[in-house]
Amino acid sequence: MVRVQLRARGIVDERVLAAMGTVPRERFVPAASRDLAYADQALPIGDGQTISQPWMVAFMTQLLDPLAGGRVLEIGTGSGYQAAVLAAMGCDVLGIERLADLAETARDRLDSLGYRNQVEIRVADGGLGWPDEAPWSRIIVAAAAPAVPDALAAQLGDGGRLVIPVGGRWEQDLMLVERRGAALATTNHGPCVFVPLRGANGWPEARIGH
Ligand code: SAH
Repeated sequence: MVRVQLRARGIVDERVLAAMGTVPRERFVPAASRDLAYADQALPIGDGQTISQPWMVAFMTQLLDPLAGGRVLEIGTGSGYQAAVLAAMGCDVLGIERLADLAETARDRLDSLGYRNQVEIRVADGGLGWPDEAPWSRIIVAAAAPAVPDALAAQLGDGGRLVIPVGGRWEQDLMLVERRGAALATTNHGPCVFVPLRGANGWPEARIGH
C-alpha cells in the first residue's frame, strides 16, 4: 500500500509514509471486509459511513502537515484510522464524531492499539469545532461541508492549517485554509468525494436522504 498507492502517487512526507506503514488498517474495517483493508478504495464502516481510501488519508495528512507533539482537532473520526495515523506521527488528537456507536468502536480500537493517551474521542457536532480548547493549530475534517464553517476558521490559530472537503453533496474539492494573523488563505487541492458533514454547519438530513 505504501509503495504502490502512496509513494508512487506523489506522497512524499516520510512521516506520513512511516505512520501509514505502521498502523494496522485491518483493525479499522469490519471483519467482513478485512481482505480489502489495504485496497485502493474507501470501505463501508456501518451507519452509512466510510473509512477513507488510503491515498486520501495520506494526502490529507500531508497537506495538514501536523507537528509531532502538536494537537490536532479531527472532525468525523469514524473508524478512528485517521486519528491513529496522526497519533503514530506523535500528535495528540481530539476526535469529534457525531455517531455514538462509531465513536465507541473507534475508542476501543485506539485503546487496544496503545493510543489511549494520545487520542480522545467525543460525541458532538464537530462542525462547531471545539471552542473551549481553541485556538487549534491543525484541524482536519473527514466529511464534506457546503462551505468552510466560520466556527472552524475562527478557531484556527495563527499559522494554523485547516484541511476540509468543500463543495456539493456528491463531489467536493479538498481545501486548505491557512491563517496568517487576521487573514485566511484558501487553496484548492483537487477533487474528492466524502460523506456529508451533518449538523449545524453541514447538510440537512431530511432533504437529501440517508
Ligand atoms: N476519518 C474517518 C472517516 C470517517 S467518514 C476514518 O478514517 O474512518 C466521516 C465521519 O464524519 C462519519 O463517521 C460521520 O458520522 C462523521 N460526521 C458527519 N458529520 C459530523 C459532524 N457534524 N460532527 C462529527 N462527525 C460527523
